Amino acid sequence: MSEQTNPFESLQSQIDEASSHVDVDSDVLERLKHPERVLETNLTVELDDGSLERFKAFRSQFNGDRGPYKGGIRYHPGVSRDEVKALSGWMVYKCATVGIPYGGGKGGIIIDPDEYSATEIERLTRAFAKELRPMIGVDRDVPAPDVNTGQREMNWIKDTYETLENTTEPGVVTGKAPDSGGSEGRVEATGRSTVLAAREAFDYLDKDLEGATVAVQGYGNAGWIAAKLIHEMGATVVAASDSSGGIYNADGIDPVAAKDHKHETGSITGYDGAAEEITNEDVLTLDVDLLIPAALENAIDGDLAPDVQADVISEAANGPLTPEADEILADEDVLVIPDILANAGGVTVSYFEWVQNRQRFYWTEERVNEELEAIIVDAFADLVDTYEANDLRSFRTAAYVVAVQRVADAFEEAGTFP
Ligand code: NAD
Repeated sequence: MSEQTNPFESLQSQIDEASSHVDVDSDVLERLKHPERVLETNLTVELDDGSLERFKAFRSQFNGDRGPYKGGIRYHPGVSRDEVKALSGWMVYKCATVGIPYGGGKGGIIIDPDEYSATEIERLTRAFAKELRPMIGVDRDVPAPDVNTGQREMNWIKDTYETLENTTEPGVVTGKAPDSGGSEGRVEATGRSTVLAAREAFDYLDKDLEGATVAVQGYGNAGWIAAKLIHEMGATVVAASDSSGGIYNADGIDPVAAKDHKHETGSITGYDGAAEEITNEDVLTLDVDLLIPAALENAIDGDLAPDVQADVISEAANGPLTPEADEILADEDVLVIPDILANAGGVTVSYFEWVQNRQRFYWTEERVNEELEAIIVDAFADLVDTYEANDLRSFRTAAYVVAVQRVADAFEEAGTFP
C-alpha cells in the first residue's frame, strides 16, 4: 500500500487531467487547485485523570465560490494538513458534480478515539467547536460527520456553537440526530448514493445487478449501508472487511447480521456466517462484479491495481484509488464511479438537512430518498454525456470536467474582489 501517495497531490493531478477539456484560464485553474485558507490549531483538553493533553486539529476552507464551505470532521491518527486539504478540495468538486450550492471544506483531529473515554471526546469536540466558532456558521461553513465522528459529535458542536452565540441555529452542522434537527435518511445517504450510482453504471454497461457479486472494503457507516442496500437490490455480498481483516462466503454474507456481529464484538472478523477469513488485500482483489471501497484513501495503489478483478468500482470512500491505480484500471476498462459522484449522497442529504433547518419544516424519509435518487441519476447522466462527448479515459475525468467548469464559471461570473 502506497503510504507515500499524498492525497493533496492526487487531487491536483485529477484537476490537471480534466483541465484540457475545461474552458478555464490557467491562472483561474491555479486558484482551483489550492485551499483559500487552512486553520491549524492545538487543542488543550483535560483528561479524566486531571492531566492535560494537546491535540492538533485542522479546518480547511478550500473554495466558497458556489456557496458555504461544506464538509466533514474526521478523528483519526492519520489526519494531516495535506489530507484535510485534499478532502476539502474533493468536497468542492463533489458539490459541483451533483449541482448543490456549496463550496468545500474539511476538518480533522489527529487522535485515535478508541483510546479516549466519551467524556474526553466530548471535551475535545467542544474545544474544537469553540476554536471553529468564528469561521463556521449556517451561511459560512457547515461541518458534518466523517470517519469516527457521527450524530453525537455534531450535536456537541451545534450545542457549543448555539451556547456561545446565544441563538438556535441547527443548520450550523449537518448529520445531527433527528431530534436535534437532523434529517431522515442522512445516516443511509452515503451508502445509498454509492449503490444508486452502481445501479446506473450496471445499466450503462447492460449488466444485471440481480445476482451480481459484491465486495465491500470498510464496514463503517458508508460501507455497511452500501452492503445492506445492494443486497436488497438482489446482488450478493460475498466479502467484506474492516480494519481487523476480511470475511468471505461465496454463497453470500447477510449484511445486517455481519453488522450486528461487528457492533457486538468491535470487528467483522469472527462472524459465523463467513465461510473463511481473508485479508484486507484479498477483499480488494476478488473476482467480483462490483467492488465498493469504503475505508480510507489510497486503498488501491499502482502495485495492487493490476490484481484488481472487479468490473465496476463504486467509491464510497474519498480518494481510495491513487492516480497510478486509476491509469491502470482505465487501461483494463474497469468502470470506476468516482467518489465525487458515488459518495455524494452524504453531502446531498446534508444539503436537504440544511434546507429543512432553515425552513424549520421537515421532510419524510420517502421524500429525502426520492430527491436524492433524482440528483444522483441526473448527475450520472451528465457524466455519461461528458465522457462520451469528449471521448475521455475515465468517469473520474468526466466528473472533474463537469465540476471544474461549474466552479470556474461561478468564480468568473463573480469577478475578483478587491
Ligand atoms: P467509519 O469510521 O464509520 O468506517 C470506516 C470503516 O473502515 C471502519 O469499519 C474501519 O474498521 C474500516 N477500515 C479502516 N481501515 C481499513 C482497512 N485498511 N481495510 C479495511 N477496512 C478499514 O467511516 P465512514 O463514515 O463509513 O467513512 C468511510 C469513508 O467514506 C471515508 O473515506 C469517508 O471520507 C467516506 N465518506 C463518508 C461519508 C459519510 O457520510 N459518513 C460521506 C462521504 C464519504
